[in-house]
Amino acid sequence: MHINKIEHIGIAVKSIEEALKYYEGVLGLECYAVEEVKEQKVKTAFLKIGETKIELLEATNDDSPIAKFIEKRGEGVQHIAFAVNGIENVLAEVKEKGIRLIDEKPRKGAEGLDIAFLHPKSTGGVLTEFCEKNN
Ligand code: ZN
Repeated sequence: MHINKIEHIGIAVKSIEEALKYYEGVLGLECYAVEEVKEQKVKTAFLKIGETKIELLEATNDDSPIAKFIEKRGEGVQHIAFAVNGIENVLAEVKEKGIRLIDEKPRKGAEGLDIAFLHPKSTGGVLTEFCEKNN
């Protein structure tokens, strides 16, 4: 398998509006898209840095995975996303190598990407996402 690049880094925040004061106001990055992913109960905001992005994640509901993450660990880096080709094959390959999958099959994430998560218990504590552009 081949990882193309770090597609984005996911950061859990209590409020995207508050977080943008830092990312835009201090770091001078620009938020180019805000999108709600209903299925995941999150609102996402994207900022581009070269070929990589920052994905800010805000819970839209108390039982959102992001709300649970913040409750347990506070705001901060929540996941890292790798861009791959042939996401289904990549998932099969890591599974065969003994990695626990959260998503057995890819599903739709923000920006229309096919995404799938690996369980942090088998990746050294880092929630890992694979994603692929499918257009
Ligand atoms: Zn992500």
